[in-house]
Amino acid sequence: MPLHTKMLIGFVIGTAAGLAANFLVAEAGWLDALITYVADPVGQIFLRLLFMLVIPLVFSALVLGVVEIGDPASLGRIGVKTLVWIVAVTTIAVTIGLLAVNLFQPGQGIDPQIAQTLLAQSSDRATEIAGAREGVSGVQVLLNIVPRNPVQAAAQGDLIAVMFFALMFGIAATVLRTPGTRSFVGAVQGIYDICLKLIGWVIALAPYAVAALLFSITARLGVDVLVQLARFVGTVIAALGVHFFIVIPILLWIFGRMTPLAFFRGAQPALLTAFSTSSSSATLPTTLKVTEENLGVPRRVARFVCTLGATANMNGTALFEGITVLFLAQFFGVELGMGQQALILLLCILGGIGAAGVPGGSLPVIAMILVMFGIPPEGIGLILGVDRLLDMCRTVVNIGGDMAGSVVIGRSEAGHEATTVDAAVPAQAD
Ligand code: ASP
Repeated sequence: MPLHTKMLIGFVIGTAAGLAANFLVAEAGWLDALITYVADPVGQIFLRLLFMLVIPLVFSALVLGVVEIGDPASLGRIGVKTLVWIVAVTTIAVTIGLLAVNLFQPGQGIDPQIAQTLLAQSSDRATEIAGAREGVSGVQVLLNIVPRNPVQAAAQGDLIAVMFFALMFGIAATVLRTPGTRSFVGAVQGIYDICLKLIGWVIALAPYAVAALLFSITARLGVDVLVQLARFVGTVIAALGVHFFIVIPILLWIFGRMTPLAFFRGAQPALLTAFSTSSSSATLPTTLKVTEENLGVPRRVARFVCTLGATANMNGTALFEGITVLFLAQFFGVELGMGQQALILLLCILGGIGAAGVPGGSLPVIAMILVMFGIPPEGIGLILGVDRLLDMCRTVVNIGGDMAGSVVIGRSEAGHEATTVDAAVPAQAD
């Protein structure tokens, strides 16, 4: 049975069992024990195994990505194309989000009673998140890109800083091209290959992990919270759907010459991983594998675009940030004019680049934007109850955008194959 079929079965079994448990025996002590001691650890082990591979993978993939692109001119070209893709597609995504929230006005229909209850339930977490915004000024975000200490950045999981370091390393290795740097590139290639092998082993566990993760979420949340915040959830999902099922396929068709069927069929394992992990970073190993093997994107392009995209290209996250800020503004009765909404659009594009590819990675960014517009950041507490589901959906869109970008850029690079410096990989050169 193919792995993705097993993952789908795991998904269905986990969700059905979780909802049934929530419905029938929600109060039972043994259900709590089952979630705490079995389902949660199984899901967590899978997530940890994926996170374990992220730093060596990001470093090796980016160094090799830069080296394989070869000459600095070609690196610049792919870099510029990637940047244009990120900014253009994220702008479309946030615009869809802002249009949807203005159209459906989800914040107007929320029962204040329910809102108060949700706010009270999540107040600790909300305060913690609101606190995390301190010190995250615009200048600081830019400064943090350059690590003071790359080992510390890696230890703290600061991906943007690790990526910056890897890019610099790759560029220097490409410029030097001495025997020493060639051996180094050979070693990095070895790290990359080993990571891919390990990923294969970890992914084989995915069907069980998906079942466990979905069981704990649905058994805890049930459908109640979803029903209460249905309009907000509906708006986010509808907007994500428009972007994912209409905009991305059109862009893929026009610029990548790929049919939606071929794309979704090939991308499925990564999309399912994104859905069940809610983390672009944790999905990165699968994204890379699937983009190269199923979507036929040249390795050098896939490595560069997907690795950078896992943290910097977040269409779903940016769209979600726009909707959430306006939803909470409506909820708290804060009027926002067109000029302010335009500023929110800009902030959300940057927010998509700056958010970490981890579950809930966008929440500190949202807290920051809320404060800027005089909207109580504690309002984040309102959406925490449903955030996990929306996080799953927006992460799928984030990953979909990365893979679509790779296909489009890969195709546009087809005429430039000759610039690849194959000799940069010593195993072939010697
Ligand atoms: N979970 C998202 C991701 O990893 C980030 C977010 O929107 O919170 O792509």
